[in-house]
Amino acid sequence: MKVVILVGGVGGARFLLGVKQALGLPAIGSAPESPHEVTALVNTGDDVWMHGLRICPDLDTCMYTLGGGIDEERGWGHAGETWTVKEELAEYGAEPTWFGLGDKDIATHLIRSRMLRAGYPLSQVTEALCDRWQPGVRLLPMSDDRVETHVVIDDPEDPDQRKAIHFQEWWVRYRAEPKAHSIIAVGADEAKPAPGVLDAIAGADIVLFAPSNPVVSVGTTLGVPGIRAALRKTRAKVVGVSPIIGGKALRGMADACLSAIGVETSAEAVGRHYGSRKESPDGVLDGWLVSEGETVDVPGVAVRDVPLLMSDVDATAAMVRAAFDLAGVSVD
Ligand code: GDP
Ligand code: CA
Repeated sequence: MKVVILVGGVGGARFLLGVKQALGLPAIGSAPESPHEVTALVNTGDDVWMHGLRICPDLDTCMYTLGGGIDEERGWGHAGETWTVKEELAEYGAEPTWFGLGDKDIATHLIRSRMLRAGYPLSQVTEALCDRWQPGVRLLPMSDDRVETHVVIDDPEDPDQRKAIHFQEWWVRYRAEPKAHSIIAVGADEAKPAPGVLDAIAGADIVLFAPSNPVVSVGTTLGVPGIRAALRKTRAKVVGVSPIIGGKALRGMADACLSAIGVETSAEAVGRHYGSRKESPDGVLDGWLVSEGETVDVPGVAVRDVPLLMSDVDATAAMVRAAFDLAGVSVD
């Protein structure tokens, strides 16, 4: 079975563990031989240059999580980190001080940045890094081109002005507190899907949307020209999983992103925002999984309610099997 999943960082990575388990693959690491092919299309809108290093938060979260190297408590970066370089940078007063990279993590970033400067596209760099981590799924950046999410806020220095800041600054430094007037994917208009992305969608048996942020994770990937059209055209069914349970985003600030684009924080509103492939001109969904007990109507989309808490890998795998079932595909 060929499974393609649109993912962001933490929510996406956890969901991928469940996809692997539902296919009988080891959740962590790779299986030497498997009849199944899992391709994750990873958001790169969070990516940013800092201290001369190219940071790809969602790719790294997926790679470390699936490769068994994630710091479980923090939810990002390497397990067993030390912070010597960060402390030394702070002694120099080097900005930004609000973004931490651990010493081990810096090795990943040195390799990535060196390869990018030597001219390798991000997709090949990611493949090279995954050689070590063996995530057991093909991690494809949504695009090799630079696309960076920016958030328009009131200028703290001049309340009559607005300014755009990088998504990371808004999210990590300011904890998404300044109201977002709009969210822009800078560079998206000219970006192309990374090699393999459109073929993966066209050749899939099923496409899933992880319960990742619908605006700045899945939404950014949908904004790369060509990807939405490929999703509308594939013969595979497309099933999304709601990141909103009982009107709330889990462990996150997704509601701040949704309100910036004028979408209510509810499973129904997000389902309607993605829209029906059959019945809406830009829609991308055939199926929509919502949390157990919620009554949700998305015209033209098959909705099913199941437990949606990714409390452990078994629970997540059950969710993935429900998505397979809704799409009418079976693993064996
Ligand atoms: P990020 O890139 O690290 O912010 O992570 P993602 O975009 O991949 O995922 C963040 C989203 O995951 C948030 O909007 C949460 O609402 C959602 N989420 C986190 N945990 C769960 C869970 O257990 N179940 C569901 N359904 N959604 C979750
Ligand atoms: Ca992210």
